[in-house]
Amino acid sequence: MKLVVVGNGMVGHRLVETLRARDARGGCDITVLAEESRPAYDRVRLSAWFDGEALELSCVDGVTVRLGEAATALDPAARTVTTAVASYSYDALVLATGSSPFVPPVPGCDLTGCFVYRTVDDLHALSAYAQAGSGPMTGVVVGGGLLGLEAANALRRLGVNAHVVELAPRLMPLQVDEAGGAMLRRHIEELGLTIHTGRMLQRVDGRSGRVSRVVFADGGVLSTDVVVFAAGVRPRDDLARAAGLTVGARGGVVVDHAGRTSAPDIYAVGECAEIGGRVYGLVAPGYAMAEMVADRLLGGDATFEGADTSTKLKLLGVDVASFGSTAGPLDVTFTDPATRVYAKLVLSDDAKTLLGGILVGDASAYATLRAQVGLPLLSTPLALLAPAGDGGVGANLPDTAQVCSCNAVTKATIVSAITGQGCADVAAVKECTRAGTTCGSCVPLLKQLLTESGVAMPTALCEHFDLSRQELFDLMRVRGITTFSQLIGEHGRGRGCDICKPVVASILASITGGYILDGEQASLQDTNDHFLANLQRNGTYSVVPRIPGGEITPEKLIVIGEVARDFQLYTKITGGQRIDLLGARVEHLPEIWRRLVDAGFESGHAYGKALRTVKSCVGTTWCRFGVQDAVGLAVALELRYRGLRAPHKVKAAVSGCARECAEARSKDFGVIATENGWNLYVGGNGGFRPRHAELLAVDLSTVDLIAIIDRFLMFYVRTADRLQRTSAWIEAMDGGLDHLRSVIVDDSLGLAAELEAAMTRHVASYADEWKSTLDDPDRLRRFVSFVNAPDTPDPSIAFSTERDQPVPLGRASPARQQPVLVGMPR
Ligand SMILES: Cc1cc2nc3c(=O)[nH]c(=O)nc-3n(C[C@H](O)[C@H](O)[C@H](O)COP(=O)(O)OP(=O)(O)OC[C@H]3O[C@@H](n4cnc5c(N)ncnc54)[C@H](O)[C@@H]3O)c2cc1C
Repeated sequence: MKLVVVGNGMVGHRLVETLRARDARGGCDITVLAEESRPAYDRVRLSAWFDGEALELSCVDGVTVRLGEAATALDPAARTVTTAVASYSYDALVLATGSSPFVPPVPGCDLTGCFVYRTVDDLHALSAYAQAGSGPMTGVVVGGGLLGLEAANALRRLGVNAHVVELAPRLMPLQVDEAGGAMLRRHIEELGLTIHTGRMLQRVDGRSGRVSRVVFADGGVLSTDVVVFAAGVRPRDDLARAAGLTVGARGGVVVDHAGRTSAPDIYAVGECAEIGGRVYGLVAPGYAMAEMVADRLLGGDATFEGADTSTKLKLLGVDVASFGSTAGPLDVTFTDPATRVYAKLVLSDDAKTLLGGILVGDASAYATLRAQVGLPLLSTPLALLAPAGDGGVGANLPDTAQVCSCNAVTKATIVSAITGQGCADVAAVKECTRAGTTCGSCVPLLKQLLTESGVAMPTALCEHFDLSRQELFDLMRVRGITTFSQLIGEHGRGRGCDICKPVVASILASITGGYILDGEQASLQDTNDHFLANLQRNGTYSVVPRIPGGEITPEKLIVIGEVARDFQLYTKITGGQRIDLLGARVEHLPEIWRRLVDAGFESGHAYGKALRTVKSCVGTTWCRFGVQDAVGLAVALELRYRGLRAPHKVKAAVSGCARECAEARSKDFGVIATENGWNLYVGGNGGFRPRHAELLAVDLSTVDLIAIIDRFLMFYVRTADRLQRTSAWIEAMDGGLDHLRSVIVDDSLGLAAELEAAMTRHVASYADEWKSTLDDPDRLRRFVSFVNAPDTPDPSIAFSTERDQPVPLGRASPARQQPVLVGMPR
């Protein structure tokens, strides 16, 4: 049989791959006509192109692919399809032409500087344009859905000051509800993106043929250099339409439940097809169609049973996901404004079955929840939302639960691959079942099923290293490896990613104690470490000087006040007993820090995965109830552990008596004074899943206390996973707290002396990062708004005044933000 496939996108590729895998006798002569000039690639991961990642899909043997040769006409009667260079006859033809980005037909939409975001070529063009600019650039993304946010992130990474315009009243209107949209907006704004919801683009104006501004229907105007349209897609049905095939009222080649179009032996799959009255814009339904049509072409009788439409935002570093129904008869919601987490589970009217849900701010439960849609609840809704409750979920899922929705792989298939076909790691399960090969969100569940099937799990950090964070740490320490390029060259592969680079940067900082922004190490750091400051929602940075134990002299308070006044910084006392100065322009950071360092301040490491603060109560000096010098100890501990880089941030506190005014039991390590010495608690945290720290040792002398904290911290730094807080680290440890106690209190592994020595080295090698930066003109060069225009401040940063302090201009209107005090005059 001569088969011609028109379109070499993800779905066309899946079709020929499936055909070749199932058609053992090779009875199909397959030709693929591909408009794009590059081999098939993973469009879902398109934005990873900016990281230099390879996107190509595996090559399928025995298929003729005509790259750069688009089909221009189709003749169903003659059974031919024509391109600019040839005509091909077929016995069967599959249309897999995908979609094209929808560009609203507003005046100016074709000016130079207008882009879409669909192909690798689009990204090349956008990137070249942004980099060719001579100064700071502003960009507008039209569309605040999944795609628009990915495009806005791309602009941000290109150094363009990005605005997102969305017609609906919230971001991602198709996936999240109003409350989820509001929470998502806060996360996105924190990244420095400006959001305009409920606004319609009316036209794009240009100067000399290039984009210069956008005009909104409400009369508003925004100066811009780039416009990216990401306002949805339209099925590419032009070829079918011209050939007289039936197309849907809103576009899309109409196919029946078997993928057949209205013309004999012509099928359509993927985003160009309308099936069951619906056009799907996601890859999972496309794959289901491709496999169904492959089966039909081989004489089978497969039909389309619908497909999962769950989605998860990738790459922005903001967790947001929706699955199943996002509205229904009953729901349970959870909102935590402090950690910016919103979760909603939609339940059946008898509250026994999970129908779907929305997760914003923490989507770690996404894979396990999505697999439970349509099934009786395995636990209470709130327990389901907590990742700590994940343990054992895999075992409880029925065999029919769909673990990988992109590739429609059930738990039964995965377990049989593990137990029947000997798959012993995630890579093998992926290869054998395809689960986890598309969006990757089910990989944590694959790991869980491997563990629950009795397979000892390798803990590879990411695809570039087969080693876990702990193994990398040991390797670098023992072999004396001090650069990322040496490490990846000798023990990894590829160029590294957002996962392994910061981990290696953190390990290097722990081992070598050197300056974190020198040479190659600078390129490994994430944005905050890169500027030794936290990026805020309007593109400014925070300045947080260390105030050990929360104790500060009047002179130092005055300096902070003067600096804040002179640089017009918003000033706030934090829960960690120090003072945040917010709203600093990047080019002002060195001057601000010069004055602070001259007054004896140091970096507070608010930007780093490092020790933050050691909080204290007022202690015996002032308090009538105190039994030990809590302030003195807190100051000593904070000075001892300052600058210690760790897998996650570390917070601590010391309370001078059992009244616990410093809230030490909500910290990674907390010390509470007793009549006889100190009690030490470990593994506490606040946030979405608050955890009380647990008692590790009692009535310790100060010397013993410090020795045990030294060991605890160093053991954590060396053995925890990436981004694992101490609570999760202890929970994951075989034997939990008892094991930890045996290692660091009873020294069961004989490690105590080595851990203490490592901490002694850290203490001796500590140097303030901001002082080191100010002392070196080379290091100061990075503190400019625009690398290509170093003397130009970012013009988009502007402030208004709220309660006598500067706040970002354009924040949500006071009416929505300020608390309404019932019964009080306003
Ligand atoms: C940035 C981005 C992120 C995405 N993220 C997700 C996600 O997280 N989850 C998800 O499920 N989906 C996501 N998608 C959507 C997903 O990529 C698509 O659903 C999927 O690619 C559809 O596959 P397809 O083969 O139907 O179409 P396409 O991948 O668009 O392939 C169609 C191909 O056909 C070619 N073609 C068109 N006309 C002709 C012709 N006449 N002759 C020859 N060739 C022709 C096109 O050039 C194209 O190469 C994302 C898309 C983008 C752009």
